[in-house]
Amino acid sequence: MPLADLEALFDKSGAGFWKTRSDDELLAMEFTTDDPESLDNVSNDPPPDEEAMVELAYNVAGRDRGRAQCVFCKHPNHDKGVVMLYRSGGRRLVGRDCAHKRYGVVFDELVKDFDAARDRRDYVERQRMVLSQRSDLVDQIAAMRADPAVQAFMDVRRRLQAMLGRTVWARLERVASGDGMLSTDEQLRDYGTENARVRGVVVQGYALHGAELFRSGPTVPEQLLAIEREVEETLEVLRRQEATTREIRIGLVKLGDLMRRIEEQRVRLRAVNSFFEIYNLGHVAEWARKVDQQIIIGTGTLPTRLVVQRGSETLECAAPEHYRVPGQALVALMRDTVTAQKKVRRVTKGAAA
Ligand SMILES: [Zn+2]
Repeated sequence: MPLADLEALFDKSGAGFWKTRSDDELLAMEFTTDDPESLDNVSNDPPPDEEAMVELAYNVAGRDRGRAQCVFCKHPNHDKGVVMLYRSGGRRLVGRDCAHKRYGVVFDELVKDFDAARDRRDYVERQRMVLSQRSDLVDQIAAMRADPAVQAFMDVRRRLQAMLGRTVWARLERVASGDGMLSTDEQLRDYGTENARVRGVVVQGYALHGAELFRSGPTVPEQLLAIEREVEETLEVLRRQEATTREIRIGLVKLGDLMRRIEEQRVRLRAVNSFFEIYNLGHVAEWARKVDQQIIIGTGTLPTRLVVQRGSETLECAAPEHYRVPGQALVALMRDTVTAQKKVRRVTKGAAA
């Protein structure tokens, strides 16, 4: 079959079918079948010399009946392939590689249009799912930012900063941005050599729990505000009717990133709980005494309370009562809307039928 003739045939409405469907039409269509042989007019006869289009993809992986017979290689060789529909209504099942070998770029163009339409359907479906929950997302991030726990987290930070003083706080910031270990620099004297000498060594300490309390940089409310604005901007793009498949895909990826950034803020907020664990406070007290000899630090009569003696002052800090990290429902909502859920559809009738 000469390529030029086929090209002329394909370059008509058949080839343009997928390019000219509206989003609503695409959403109502089936793109994949797991039972291609049950379609009308499927045969293994040589394909007619007619205008054709890629009508459906098939995926028969794992079925009892085995793979699909391909009209080009004549063998049940393919788990996945496409259904070609010809102008007179005949259908042929073909493997993609076999059709590419037979028709080359002509087939590639047809299958590219089909794949683009199928991609668009998947992305438009997710776009509409996200938009149906649009007000919820932005409102819920704002609600998370306004949650009393966020304020309580900031209060604990301020309180600890005031109690522990500049030296200890700066060291804790370094621990938080470093390896998270409460290490100390100590002077060791080497004996046993002829000239005893002093050398500084780093003594490995315990891991600091709740290190995120001491992380420098933008605060939790600042981060949440930035995330809220970026979610709003992303939804702005997704809301446009004429958004391209690529823009939708980028928007959904962006929402996935923003969801992970909200998760990071929840991890930070959880630091209040882990910092005030009894053993952790003991380790912090022991470490802080080595870092700054001006303060006397220990746990209080309640073991989940940090107490600092600074001169004549006694300062105390504990985890706030009823402290609960917000945003769980928000992250779950974002995960549902952002995660692709591929559906296997059973086809009863074809796209052009
Ligand atoms: Zn084949």
